[in-house]
Amino acid sequence: MLNDQLRAALQHMPKAELHIHIEGSLEPELIFALAERNGVALNYASVEELRAAYAFTDLQSFLDIYYAGASVLLQEQDFYDMTAAYLARAEADNVRHCEIFFDPQTHTARGVPMRTVIDGIHRACQDSPVSATLILSFLRHLSEEDAFATLEAALPLRDKYIGIGLDSSEVGNPPEKFARVFARCKELGFHLVAHAGEEGPPAYISTALDVLKVERIDHGVRCLEDAALTARLAREQIALTVCPLSNVKLRVFDKMEQHNLLALLDAGLAVTVNSDDPAYFGGYMNDNFIATFEALPLGLSHAQRLARNSFAAAFLPAGQKQKYLDEVDAFFAAL
Ligand SMILES: [Zn+2]
Repeated sequence: MLNDQLRAALQHMPKAELHIHIEGSLEPELIFALAERNGVALNYASVEELRAAYAFTDLQSFLDIYYAGASVLLQEQDFYDMTAAYLARAEADNVRHCEIFFDPQTHTARGVPMRTVIDGIHRACQDSPVSATLILSFLRHLSEEDAFATLEAALPLRDKYIGIGLDSSEVGNPPEKFARVFARCKELGFHLVAHAGEEGPPAYISTALDVLKVERIDHGVRCLEDAALTARLAREQIALTVCPLSNVKLRVFDKMEQHNLLALLDAGLAVTVNSDDPAYFGGYMNDNFIATFEALPLGLSHAQRLARNSFAAAFLPAGQKQKYLDEVDAFFAAL
């Protein structure tokens, strides 16, 4: 059990979220409301039935229901409402800054214009008191050609997102499949990140760094299987955006007690805690912190380190980053 001081610190400490898929923040209630507003028929009779269907067993079975949920997003206001709902939850968890993934191909493939997607999400970010920037993510189960077409369609709106990511089904879709489009994105000056080493092998982490030239690794928990890679990640302080509840829900670890978060920290890695797809995986930022700290022998010093790491790894100007780091240190100094 957590003591009251540690629980309160986890809840109230300033923090940044660097791994959140906005489509994965769609709660069943909002899916139903948007389906009704847009006249979309769902294969579920009620909110309860939909929520019950969230008992997936692996990444693919999760992705199947994730894409079904996203089918209710049609108008700019839908994307706005989804993002505003997430940002309100983030604010309640004392998230001060977030870098939000969005998957345009999930929407453009259904005939939704790129501008509708980006404008709706971006406008909600502008309206929120939480600092929020966007990372356009390519779906790796689709082709590199499709990623290039997506980039082309999104470039007229490039002032509304700061980075490029790579997500969806990892196994069988190695980073090098997207070498050319990431090279182009690097030329264009975007920040680069990629999911790697969640279900896929540690080699995907290496190729994400060496071939795609990413600055952060999303997940990356399987790095510990490769001692040389672990040493490199520690030496270069490559941030890992770890998502504990997601890892347990998708059976990367059977139980939270088996999660390697503490081992990653002990290896000197720049670990952060994030929610991934909070509506589907059982919780937002503070739920992730509390579940992890309840299951593992972690204390206040770990909490401070994780909060610091989240801002240190953020794509923020140096002055802004330092301001947040000072806020974290002041928060813990006052305990
Ligand atoms: Zn993710």
